Amino acid sequence: MSELRFEDVTVRYGTGRRAMNAVDAVNLTVPSGQVVGLVGESGSGKSTLARAAVGLAPLAAGRVLLDGKDMNRRRQRPAHRPLHMVFQDPYASLDPRMRVGDSVAEAIPRGSLTGTAERRKEVVRLLDLVGLDAHHALARPAELSGGQRQRVALARALAGRPAVIVADEITSALDVSIQGTVLNLVRDLQRRMRLGMLFISHNLAVVRYVSDVIAVMYLGRIVECGPVQQVLADPQHPYTRELLAAAPQRDGYAWDFAQDDGAVTEAEPPDPHHAPPGCRFHPRCPVGPLVNPERTACLTRDPSAGAADRVHTTACHFAAERPAPSDAPA
Ligand code: ADP
Ligand code: MG
Repeated sequence: MSELRFEDVTVRYGTGRRAMNAVDAVNLTVPSGQVVGLVGESGSGKSTLARAAVGLAPLAAGRVLLDGKDMNRRRQRPAHRPLHMVFQDPYASLDPRMRVGDSVAEAIPRGSLTGTAERRKEVVRLLDLVGLDAHHALARPAELSGGQRQRVALARALAGRPAVIVADEITSALDVSIQGTVLNLVRDLQRRMRLGMLFISHNLAVVRYVSDVIAVMYLGRIVECGPVQQVLADPQHPYTRELLAAAPQRDGYAWDFAQDDGAVTEAEPPDPHHAPPGCRFHPRCPVGPLVNPERTACLTRDPSAGAADRVHTTACHFAAERPAPSDAPA
């Protein structure tokens, strides 16, 4: 059981005038054994945050803590890898020349199992965990379907017996028809093994299905975070409400907002190189100074400061306030 915590994490890309914070002073906790679903439009910094967790993106500031221990300072314990990431593309994340069994065996930390027979047994156990047969160990990635390949990626992730898994759009590259079975597998494994999970998806239906907590990211910041049912039923941040409204409900259940459909608002998409002062959402906000010019706080004061004290830890000075219907009679 382990808690993953981002503390004021900032990731900066570029230097000088091209510098920008892809992740900007983010505070987020993945409680032990729980799934935090991270949503937000393309470019909001979700993948960068995920990569920062596993040390693939350099921290300009802040810390990533696992059970209070700084991940960047910890000494690698060979028999155990507490945090593992699974990527979107199972085609790119597996070595095409390696047999599946060797790929999984390679992910078993050195020092945990020494004998060849022991390792082979562990590979079979891991394949079984993700619903693959022992004979799949002899296959090469090209002989497997996308879903099977993502199962192999999961088996590799589990090989280090992690306490927390970071999953970045892991079903997005799969056929819709098999996304469900892979999601079921992930949820089943997470519950059985009591894994903590940072689960990134642009599909709200998927996030709702697997998550306990939902965190909404906008331009490098977490703008709302709370229990999934509450956030979806009663979103407090105007950006969260726009996301929900932009996501078509298919068959009465599926919310899926396209990554790049630009439908969130009609305003200009944000430029991460020039993040607006005050509230970063103010140039697009339907309850902010665009429509309520007296709301100058949004132009100057960063709403992240009081977020923890607002419902769902919302980074909005006017949280929970609905825009007035524009076609209302005067
Ligand atoms: P998301 O996963 O939410 O779509 P990303 O984390 O991939 O967002 O990207 C956040 C921002 O950081 C984007 O503006 C993107 O262009 C930029 N970015 C991501 N990776 C790099 C990189 N390696 N170098 C420079 N900029 C990057
Ligand atoms: Mg991404």
